Amino acid sequence: MSNSPLVNYTQISPNRYSPRNHKIDTITIHCVVGQVSVEALGCIFAPTSRQASSNYGVGYDGRIGMYVEEKDASWCSSSYENDNRAITIEVASDTTHPYAVTDKAYNALIELVADICKRNGIKKLLWKGDKSLIGQTNKQNMTVHRWFENKACPGDYLYNLHGDIANKVNAKLGVNEPAEKNKVTYYVQIGAYSIKANAENQLKLVKAKGFSDAFITKVGNIYKVQTGAFNIKSNADTRLDKVKKAGFKDAFVTTIGGGAVVTQTTSVKKSIEEIAKEVVAGKWGIGTARKTALEKAGYDYNAVQAIVNKILR
Ligand SMILES: [Zn+2]
Repeated sequence: MSNSPLVNYTQISPNRYSPRNHKIDTITIHCVVGQVSVEALGCIFAPTSRQASSNYGVGYDGRIGMYVEEKDASWCSSSYENDNRAITIEVASDTTHPYAVTDKAYNALIELVADICKRNGIKKLLWKGDKSLIGQTNKQNMTVHRWFENKACPGDYLYNLHGDIANKVNAKLGVNEPAEKNKVTYYVQIGAYSIKANAENQLKLVKAKGFSDAFITKVGNIYKVQTGAFNIKSNADTRLDKVKKAGFKDAFVTTIGGGAVVTQTTSVKKSIEEIAKEVVAGKWGIGTARKTALEKAGYDYNAVQAIVNKILR
């Protein structure tokens, strides 16, 4: 059994069961109640009098400590069964409700959990916030300390982010939500942008053409402009025709699940008003060359030219 290569600091605690008696199939995230470093956490778990430990800890600065190797079970969750099947992770947090953690610690936590899942064959992280599912790891494989003892841990901040943690880790594990049978939903996508303001500009243009149901959806770090939804693909195709006729030539039909992992980024487009000004300034050439250049860059030549004519008139 291996340990995480992401560890920056190791101080093995005497407080542990060695070896663990169950394979690793659960993740249990805790809050430290203190914005501590990984070294300070190591000191907390060092004395036997403390009777506590965790497999890993994430410091306020995003560094990762190891206090109990994965082959061993920590004394962390007030549950012998849970500690023997779980990797426990203490995350540096505020000392008061909701026990928030830093963004650096949170991002490091996501990386660490994804690494633990990969190395231990946990294919997908499952979170339902349902205490009655303890031990049913095919339905839920994340647990929280508050289910085993009357305490706030992991704090409302991290507790409420458990679904987000599962989603982000699953994205790193390459797990896509399968579209439910007979319940595929189709959308027409009219642009994808890494910068929100560019997506908002595009949304305005799309709505101005009469597609009032257009919206922005954020997938990963990409802002997608879409219209829909449609339960029947032919209806989405009909919409696609209209969208293309309105000048959005790069549009295509997508499904909510199908586009979950995005690699495509469309180059950022300027508004046609900006382009028209550039045309007037001579930046796009003249005649057929202008038409070809504009269309190659994804702009509607006729729409741009109409504005050019207005400017020149
Ligand atoms: Zn705890």
